[in-house]
Amino acid sequence: MSLIIYLDGEFVGEENAKISVFDHGFLYGDGIFEGIRAYNGRVFRLDEHLERLYDSAKAIHMTIPISISEMEEVVLETLRRNNLRDAYIRLIVSRGKGDLGLDPRNCPRPLVLCIASGIKLYPPEFYENGMEVVTVPTRRNIPEGLNPRIKSLNYLNNILAKIEAIRAGVLEAVMLNQEGYVAECTGDNIFIIKKGKLITPPPHVGLLEGVTRNSVMELAAKNGIEVKETVFTRYDLYTADEMFLTGTAAEIIPVVRVDDRAIGEGKPGPVTQQLISKFHEFVRSEGTDIFK
Ligand code: PMP
Repeated sequence: MSLIIYLDGEFVGEENAKISVFDHGFLYGDGIFEGIRAYNGRVFRLDEHLERLYDSAKAIHMTIPISISEMEEVVLETLRRNNLRDAYIRLIVSRGKGDLGLDPRNCPRPLVLCIASGIKLYPPEFYENGMEVVTVPTRRNIPEGLNPRIKSLNYLNNILAKIEAIRAGVLEAVMLNQEGYVAECTGDNIFIIKKGKLITPPPHVGLLEGVTRNSVMELAAKNGIEVKETVFTRYDLYTADEMFLTGTAAEIIPVVRVDDRAIGEGKPGPVTQQLISKFHEFVRSEGTDIFK
């Protein structure tokens, strides 16, 4: 079935959704994006995603050509036109069409693109039994280089780490920062549980401040679990009682093995399971109505 895509002010069929070979998102990864999810006719944390998108734009000196409320309508209308109530939404703003040089001043207008579709990130058995990850040699971008808090179209850093994980025989990589502190995975944030406390690295380590990360921290606090944002190392991963990853596409996924060491008892732990079930309730209990 052909999808209806929002492309630069119009809704077009997938086969007509074409962009210029001079688009700087394509030529240089010059642009930003969001991955958003709709559950049962409601878009989860749409405001937070749009805020992050406009903050990313600001950080790369890009003026998005439409307002935040127009962007909200783009997302909702894309879902409505595709008749989707449960979906993964990809919102992209590239620097737009320019010439073969880097200079963004030669790109008169950023290009806005919205795709709503389905996504399955990891095999279903990983959610049941937990997944295995490895730490990889490629370090997460340094904040003084390309700040990972910007959700940019330049994912080569993460892709290299992903390739290293796959070549090591697993599907996901734990990326460290320059100092060797745990940062995040290639498209997910990391949490560990030690003695009942939920621990995650702070954004200044160099990571994307995930919307799922924020909601899991809120959920944990609401359910009487102590939450701590602090730096930690591989040693803390190896000796954690439980571990899981969070992301819009991945939701919450338990991790049971890191660098060939079992985490806790080598199966999804009780705090992780509690948070997974609370999270599923939570995503269905709030969000922007598609027919708002
Ligand atoms: N880190 C990275 C590098 C990501 O790309 C993502 C989004 N897929 C996340 C973390 C998780 O962020 P969110 O919960 O907002 O999807």
